[in-house]
Amino acid sequence: MRSISRRVDQTQEGTETPMQRHTPDAIDARSDEGTRLSTPAELQTGIDGALRKWRRRDRSFMVLVMSLHPWGNPGGWLGDRGTANIGRTVTNRILAMRYPGDMVGQLYTGELAVLCEDVGGAEEATRIARRFAAEASRPLASGGEMATPMVSVGVAVGGGVHSQASEVLSDARIAMQRAAERPGSRVELFNERLRLDLMTRSQSLNGIARAVNDSSFHLLYQPIVSIGDERLVAAEALFRWDKVTPARSGAHHIIALAEETNWIQPLGRSVLHEACRQAAAWTRLSAEELVTYVNVSPQQFAEPRLLSDVEQALSDTGLEASRLGLEVTESSVVSEDAIATLHRLRELGIRVSLDDFGTGFSSLSALQRLPLDNLKLDRSFVAGLSSDSFDGSVVDAIVTLAHHLGLGVVAEGVETAVQLEAVRDLGCDFVQGFYLARPVAAEDLAKRITSHHAEQARPR
Ligand code: C2E
Ligand code: MG
Ligand code: MG
Repeated sequence: MRSISRRVDQTQEGTETPMQRHTPDAIDARSDEGTRLSTPAELQTGIDGALRKWRRRDRSFMVLVMSLHPWGNPGGWLGDRGTANIGRTVTNRILAMRYPGDMVGQLYTGELAVLCEDVGGAEEATRIARRFAAEASRPLASGGEMATPMVSVGVAVGGGVHSQASEVLSDARIAMQRAAERPGSRVELFNERLRLDLMTRSQSLNGIARAVNDSSFHLLYQPIVSIGDERLVAAEALFRWDKVTPARSGAHHIIALAEETNWIQPLGRSVLHEACRQAAAWTRLSAEELVTYVNVSPQQFAEPRLLSDVEQALSDTGLEASRLGLEVTESSVVSEDAIATLHRLRELGIRVSLDDFGTGFSSLSALQRLPLDNLKLDRSFVAGLSSDSFDGSVVDAIVTLAHHLGLGVVAEGVETAVQLEAVRDLGCDFVQGFYLARPVAAEDLAKRITSHHAEQARPR
């Protein structure tokens, strides 16, 4: 490939060009005098031209899209001017790296696109893009501060599947978004998997936004029973979509995405409110004390307004605090603030269970300090109790410790009669799992409550 071999030769490590001096640049507004960035329309025309050449001569080309990573200026410590200076320096560096025939343009503010023709293929395109990224990321001085620009670079190799410029640009931008998800300067090469991931992700985010705005979600409730007499004592509320069914629609994926994007705050409030509303309705069916447990993510637990959200949900729905429980994970309760929140919740009369116990890293001495009601033994321990020769020593130790601390033990994920017997023998107090009951709709749990109530009322 004509110009590419030169391009690649210069990318060899240790062969610095004058441009790659490792001295920080001073921002020099004059350095871009006389150089003009191509407009988006010119870029499109250039890419369309490259596509025509590809059709005639089968020569691939690449489009690289680059933006400044927001982490390069965390909290905006360099200010708007500093960011603008970094942007200008990065632009000048990219312009200085052009080869004859390359086009550098601005797509949106802060987003550059580079078109390089006659590129051998994906490997070569990645090498070229890495070189652009390395050059853009050299440290520079701005307003007396040293800054290291971080850039996110997406690359699409044009030809093949593309019929017009906008498709190539869109692929490169998808790859750039993936690069921007990770810290530091990064280069990502487009592939179809990225598009699918992005589609699923944006579909899911739309679904979360809708779930929050028009409550288009529902909760299922999984019974928790006392192990001695299999009496229904509690139910765990579990999030489910109403209408949207993206590829990865399991509660685990949705909650993880909501946590990553901080949608968990409004979503968590809606879930809490709905669970309290439902629990209040159940109290009218039976005098039996049924506690409804709601899962709370670490981000929610760290939010100072959690307590007032809980109080608000209780007062809006008229639910007694003693009928509400929260399930928190070990990672939620490591700070002093978190322990203080636990104390406040329990002072209100709310129960607290430590969920998925055994998967986190809480030390036993830390456990001693946590004001809790129950430990929920993670499913993985229960799964290990299936075989004939199971070793229950770890579970045995956890149960002993929990009882010593005055905590109840809930065995999660009990799927078989053998597991039920094992957790009973090991002294667990409560049990939850598909063997006894799957998560069910609120109406079905209501039927279970009323039939149980009728049974209790029958003369013996
Ligand atoms: P989790 O809190 O540990 O909830 C128990 C999960 O185990 C539920 O999965 C439940 O359906 C499943 N499960 C129960 N019994 C069995 C069993 O016998 N076998 C097996 N294989 N699974 C069983 P689900 O509903 O898919 O929820 C997954 C996770 O998503 C939950 O784990 C919780 O961490 C999170 N989650 C669900 N709903 C919410 C919510 O409203 N808020 C928050 N923050 N997290 C939620
Ligand atoms: Mg849970
Ligand atoms: Mg759990």
